[in-house]
Amino acid sequence: MPENENLQDRLRTLLTELMLIPGLSGHEGRVRRHIAAALRKLGLETTTDRLGNLIATLPGDAGAPSVMLFTHMDQLGFVVRKIEADGFIRVERLGGVPERALASQAVTICVGEGRDVAGLIANKSHHATTPDEKYKVVPYMDLYIDAGFASRAEAEAAGVQIGAPVVYRPQVLPISRTRIAGTSIDDRAGCAVIVEVARALLDQPKRPTVHFVFSVQEEFNLRGALTAAQVLKPDICIQLDLLLATDTPDMAYRGDVRLGGGPGISLYSFHGRGTLNGTIPHPALVSLFETASDTKGIPLQRSAHTGALTDSSYVQLVEGGVAAIDVGFPMRYSHSSLEVCDLGDLAQLTDLLVAALTAIDKDFSLDRDDWNDR
Ligand SMILES: [Zn+2]
Repeated sequence: MPENENLQDRLRTLLTELMLIPGLSGHEGRVRRHIAAALRKLGLETTTDRLGNLIATLPGDAGAPSVMLFTHMDQLGFVVRKIEADGFIRVERLGGVPERALASQAVTICVGEGRDVAGLIANKSHHATTPDEKYKVVPYMDLYIDAGFASRAEAEAAGVQIGAPVVYRPQVLPISRTRIAGTSIDDRAGCAVIVEVARALLDQPKRPTVHFVFSVQEEFNLRGALTAAQVLKPDICIQLDLLLATDTPDMAYRGDVRLGGGPGISLYSFHGRGTLNGTIPHPALVSLFETASDTKGIPLQRSAHTGALTDSSYVQLVEGGVAAIDVGFPMRYSHSSLEVCDLGDLAQLTDLLVAALTAIDKDFSLDRDDWNDR
């Protein structure tokens, strides 16, 4: 279908651009400017709140429930915690960093656009590795970054300071005609999809008011989107992020989400560790996406799991409650330097969201008594 191929091409271009821009939690400015420019090209005005969330509103039927469609711009990484006298750099972790996949990774120390410093997380020389070290994960506290400096003074002269953001070196690696590997697909893919949803909704005369929110600090504390929701006061929030793909040998027992199998919804999430929160979606929104999937012939995968959660957990608790659902695309190898997604899933997710959003009208009820809970 040519229309869908165009959509896939646009998604590939924007996703690639966004993956190559560093944006650690709390330092999303470069990503935000890029997305704001993309929205401006569509004719949408944007605002930025004090936390850094980027917001654009597309007005629609005032009688229909309003929607906040959101996704996060930030990525996980590190913060410089100490520069050693010999120029090696120690880091603090920011977000759910997989420590067993850190040694030997290339990183970017963000000191300013055009001046960023390349480095690598050192891995002890193999020839000197003892038998018991060979299968041991080195905690991040013991790792160090080699950025080519011979002294602390050299590092400081290059702009490296305590507090500087550090991310996996941004990279994009197409691994098939439709699959992309690379950094921070979580959640630049969600950002690219929302820009395309905005483009499609502009042409739809029948639509509810939709607030597009590109949020900050999700990987840090999962509450960045809250300030936007408190101001926008939506009736519905739809959150976009990855769904854990379970079609690899190590993940099969976790569920039934296939990369390339189309978009999906989360029926249950709970973090369980530290953060006692999660999202059980509003039945009206589950039904909305099931119906959109049926009428458009778009597959809809289902996910339920503990161990992760999204901003929607907090957004749903704003004011008298916001009807919430997590919608997403299958992704492999979450939080590693090379995550994998499928562009076909992103295109179908875009189409599914447009179909679901345009079905929200003045008769769309969020009254719990109108929905039979199972
Ligand atoms: Zn994410």
